[in-house]
Amino acid sequence: MSLPPRATCVIVGGGVVGCSLAYHLAKHGLKALLLEAHELAGGSTGRCAGGVRQQFSTHQNVVLGMESRNLLLQFADETGVDPGFRQIGYLFVGTQPSHIELFHRNVAMQQAAGLRDVTFLEPDAIGELVPGIRKEDLLGGTYCPSDGIASPNEVTTGYATAARRLGAHIEENTQVVDIEVTESGAFRVITGTHEIETGIVVDCAGAHAGAVGQMVGVPLPVLPYRRHIFVTEPLAEPLRIPMTVDFGTSFYAHPEGGGLLLGMSDPDEGSSFSTEVSWDFLEHLVEHAVWRLPALAGAGIKTGWAGLYEVTPDHQAIIGKTRVPGFWVSCGFSGHGFMQAPAAGAHLADAIVADAIPEQLVSFSLERFSSEQTEPELAVI
Ligand SMILES: Cc1cc2nc3c(=O)[nH]c(=O)nc-3n(C[C@H](O)[C@H](O)[C@H](O)COP(=O)(O)OP(=O)(O)OC[C@H]3O[C@@H](n4cnc5c(N)ncnc54)[C@H](O)[C@@H]3O)c2cc1C
Repeated sequence: MSLPPRATCVIVGGGVVGCSLAYHLAKHGLKALLLEAHELAGGSTGRCAGGVRQQFSTHQNVVLGMESRNLLLQFADETGVDPGFRQIGYLFVGTQPSHIELFHRNVAMQQAAGLRDVTFLEPDAIGELVPGIRKEDLLGGTYCPSDGIASPNEVTTGYATAARRLGAHIEENTQVVDIEVTESGAFRVITGTHEIETGIVVDCAGAHAGAVGQMVGVPLPVLPYRRHIFVTEPLAEPLRIPMTVDFGTSFYAHPEGGGLLLGMSDPDEGSSFSTEVSWDFLEHLVEHAVWRLPALAGAGIKTGWAGLYEVTPDHQAIIGKTRVPGFWVSCGFSGHGFMQAPAAGAHLADAIVADAIPEQLVSFSLERFSSEQTEPELAVI
C-alpha cells in the first residue's frame, strides 16, 4: 500500500457517508484521500435495513430525504451501478391518539415541503394496502409510495467506484490512529504506517465519529446504540408489503428474498459498542411481529445480525464545520445515514469547496447543541 505524503482533503471512514462525500468532492475536481480502517461498508452501512424514506417530522430531514431519493433515481446513470432502489413505499401505523396527532402534523408539513404523494390512511385503507395486517388496534397511518428500499453495499461501492474513476484515492485497512494540528493550522493524519499532511479533514467515522473528533479536541455528541435485524425463511405465501413500521413499538418489516426482514429497537438498552446478537431479544421482537403480521406465526428465522446506530441528542445528523478550522464532520445520522448520505454528501462537498455552509445544512450544524433548544426528529425507529 502506498499513501501520498500530502492530500488536499482526508476523509476518515468508508461507509456510505464517506464514499458519497468522496464522489461528490471528486465531481468538483477535489480528489480526496479516503481512509477506511477495515473494508468499505463494513461498519453500520453494511448492517443496515436499506430503508429510504422522506417521511420525517422536521422540515430539513424531509428535504434531505427528497433530495436523496432523487439522487438514487439517477444513481445508475451517474455511477454505472444499480443501487437496487425499489420504491415499495413506507407505511407508518399508529395505535395511540398521540401518534395520529403527530401523523397529521407530519403529513401537512411534508406536503408543504413538496412531498406530494404522502397521505394519511384510515385503518380500512391500511388493511387494503397490507392485506393480513392486524388492524383492530390501529387508529391510522401515513403512507408514501415513493419511499422504498435500496442496497447499502451497491450504493457505497457505486460511490467509491465512481469517486476513484474521477481521481479520488480510497484506501481500505488503514486506520487513522491520531490527527495532529500543526503550527501552521494544517493537519498531520497519522495511520499505523504513514503520516499525511492535509488542510482539510472530514470525520465520517459513523459510530466512532466521537473518537476521531477527540483527536483534534472537538467533542461530538454521538453515541453508539445496538440495533438488531432478523430475516425470516421464505414464507409459503410471500407478503408483498411496503416497508411497514409500527410506530408505537418501533417494529418494522420489509420483503427480503421471499421472506421478511424484521427490525425493532430496544428502548431499555443503553449505549454500547456491542454488536453481538441477543437471541433473547428475538423472542421479544417476534411477539410484536406476529401481533402485527399474524402470517409470521411459525415462520423460521434464517439469519440475524446487529449493528450500531450513531445517535445525537436530537436524532439528527451533524453535517458541517467545527470550531477547528479545516476539521469538518458528517456523522450522527441517528439511524438515517443510508437514506440521507446521497444529499448529505452533495451538500457537504459544495460547502467544503466554497468554504461556506449552504442553506440546506444550517440546521445540521454542530453549534446547534451549544446554543438554543434544538427541534428533535420524532419519526425515529
Ligand atoms: C440494524 C440497523 C438498521 C439500519 N437501518 C437503516 C435504514 O433502513 N435506513 C437508513 O438510512 N439507515 C439505517 N441504519 C443506519 C445506517 O446504517 C447508518 O446511519 C449509516 O450506515 C451511517 O453511515 P456512515 O458511513 O456514517 O457509518 P459507517 O457505515 O459505520 O462507516 C464509518 C466507517 O468509518 C470507519 N472508521 C471508524 N473509525 C475510523 C478510523 N479511526 N480510521 C479509519 N476509519 C475509521 C469504520 O470502519 C466504518 O467503516 C441502520 C443501522 C443499523 C445498525
